Amino acid sequence: MRIFTREGVRQEMCLDEKVAIPDEVREAYLRLGRPTPLYRARRLERYLKTKAKIYYKREDVNPCGSHKPNTAVAQAYYASKEGVEKLATETGAGQWGTALSYACMLFGLECEVFMTRGSYDSKPYRRTMMELFGGKVHPSPSKLTESGRAALKEMPDHPGSLGVAISEAIEVTLRSEKTRYSLGSVLNHVLLHQTVIGEETMLQFRQIDATPDLMIGCIGGGSNFAGFCYPFVRDRLQGKNEVDFLAVEPTAVPSTTRGEYRYDYGDTAELTPLIEMYTLGHKFIPPPIHAAGLRYHGKAPSLSLLIHEGVVSSVAYGQDEVFEAAKMFVRTEGIVPAPETAHAIKAVIDEARKCREERIIAFNFSGHGLLDLGGYEQFLWRRE
Ligand SMILES: *Cc1c(COP(=O)(O)O)cnc(C)c1O
Repeated sequence: MRIFTREGVRQEMCLDEKVAIPDEVREAYLRLGRPTPLYRARRLERYLKTKAKIYYKREDVNPCGSHKPNTAVAQAYYASKEGVEKLATETGAGQWGTALSYACMLFGLECEVFMTRGSYDSKPYRRTMMELFGGKVHPSPSKLTESGRAALKEMPDHPGSLGVAISEAIEVTLRSEKTRYSLGSVLNHVLLHQTVIGEETMLQFRQIDATPDLMIGCIGGGSNFAGFCYPFVRDRLQGKNEVDFLAVEPTAVPSTTRGEYRYDYGDTAELTPLIEMYTLGHKFIPPPIHAAGLRYHGKAPSLSLLIHEGVVSSVAYGQDEVFEAAKMFVRTEGIVPAPETAHAIKAVIDEARKCREERIIAFNFSGHGLLDLGGYEQFLWRRE
């Protein structure tokens, strides 16, 4: 089936150790503020009275506010080179739809986004951003597709799910020769594009003559964690470092801590090939947590394998303790993290508290929470 771009498929199967970043994508990375800064969390360290040195990579400092444009601009660039005129996709929290709308704007493509109805209603500013960038946004399920109409027939007030939204976006893709479908996580080529984060981080640590002892990131599909850690994982597998890796997920969606390692579908409608991964089952309906970007039943196959083999460890945290950690971070470092990012921060704080001797902990600050203040309002300030 003609769903993805040719280059996307080629990179999905690519075994090369290195893949060059085209000049046009490098130029787009400059617009995204790349290389992004690596910060030392001195105020948080002092507050915790820890012996750990804590560093974080700022993936929030771009016009979209998360790491997602790193792959969006690459995907839009390859699509434009292949004569594609439109990219279709789904979005949950809206961060991926925002990034792809932005990337399509840069490379002169149309963008059509199916946004789960719940988020469409509860995160109106995300929709506004997508529309400002020129994206066309539909609440999903919509009446525009067979899958949307079927879902609405079954449940007229359907809140939407990524499963249905994916089916809608694929339907739109198959309608026109000049449209392709684009995914924001899980797939190998998406993780590959994100490794720009880790490659930069490695150079930045080299500049200060240090190496991390522990690297931490939150996992939804696994792309920001993989992008941040994989260059270091490569070196560790070659015996060049002894870095520990810790992936953090919500207790509400415990794919790697409570799920099974087996073959499963990537979507509810069973349209994707079977993928070997940690999964809660493709029929699993994730509860509506504020970290909507972490609501996926499975995890990227390469990351799942690394966890299965014990190279990467994983841990799960509950929503309240995660928001508490976010509050501590805001009041020390002065930056509001996305609820997804706050999962990594919770793990960082716990690990730092355990340190009896100096240890360098680095985490990926995957996005800001300036459009997630509704969640903060509900879960944080009410408890003071
Ligand atoms: C989407 C998102 C995530 C989770 O997705 P991954 O593919 O696992 O990185 C994490 N943080 C932010 C800010 C996001 O937007």
